[in-house]
Amino acid sequence: MLAIKNLNKSYNQRKVLQDLNLYIEAGEIYGLLGANGAGKTTTINIICNLLKADSGDITINHQPISDATKKLIGIAPQENLLYKTLTCAENLKFFADIYGLDRKTRQQQLQITLAAVNLLDRAKSPVETLSGGMQRRLNIAVALVHQPKLVILDEPTTGLDIESRYEIWELIRQLKNQGITILLTTHLLDEAERLCNKIGILKNGQILAEGSLAQLRNLIPAAEILVVQTTEEEQAIARAQEYGFTLKRYGNELGFWLPEPLELKEILARFEGIKIDAIARQPVRLEHIYLEVTQKN
Ligand code: ATP
Repeated sequence: MLAIKNLNKSYNQRKVLQDLNLYIEAGEIYGLLGANGAGKTTTINIICNLLKADSGDITINHQPISDATKKLIGIAPQENLLYKTLTCAENLKFFADIYGLDRKTRQQQLQITLAAVNLLDRAKSPVETLSGGMQRRLNIAVALVHQPKLVILDEPTTGLDIESRYEIWELIRQLKNQGITILLTTHLLDEAERLCNKIGILKNGQILAEGSLAQLRNLIPAAEILVVQTTEEEQAIARAQEYGFTLKRYGNELGFWLPEPLELKEILARFEGIKIDAIARQPVRLEHIYLEVTQKN
């Protein structure tokens, strides 16, 4: 569906994208993760033909990026792109007109997209009277109005409460079920874990790791992660290392990678004689993988 090969972009001789390669299959939800400044928005702007790359190839449905491919893509940018004094329906009409939808299709699409984002009953409400979550959903509706094949959602739930997040996650799953391909950026790793069937980790304009969550888990040779609270940290570390546990710091938490699955009583036995206040057992999560991949490089 989307193929990006050896993409390069510099601003004032500073390389922002470096031989970036990224492939998204039709029907996938691809999560592009990366710290602030990693190059996500630059990549998106190039895909949308809003910015020219210095070199590299991008195709959508086997067609090179051009003004003609713009209609295949719908984008819901990080900052809502909405006219606050206009109603939901007027906003959608405005964007449908930009895409040149004829009157009949526009009318149909208005109903369909408002229903999809659960705002049919707010069609006549001015945007400024909607909650933050509703405005975010309308921002996504704008991306859908011209029936694109690829929808780009740039941090779709940042700043929203948990209920609004659930609504948007459900909407994204429905889009996938309709066969729409989705490229999603997020700083919320649990969001990527829940939604994405493929994840790419971007740093300094390069994809450092890519794959399904299960494939990415293989990058961490741990059966489980232990987070230990103790006032006898040195002794706990020495003992854990005797048993082949790998020391990892997660912020100010003391963590260990367990090389093999152990029963709780076996874990406790390993720390016998050391004053342990608490032990939390965690599965390997995207958060651990992300830190490992980005800190190693
Ligand atoms: P965020 O998560 O904060 O949105 P991002 O991954 O989207 O970050 P980009 O916005 O693509 O990152 O920026 C990548 C790098 O390019 C940053 O260092 C940024 O400062 C730089 N950059 C972006 N746009 C320009 C510009 N127009 N001129 C100069 N430098 C730019």
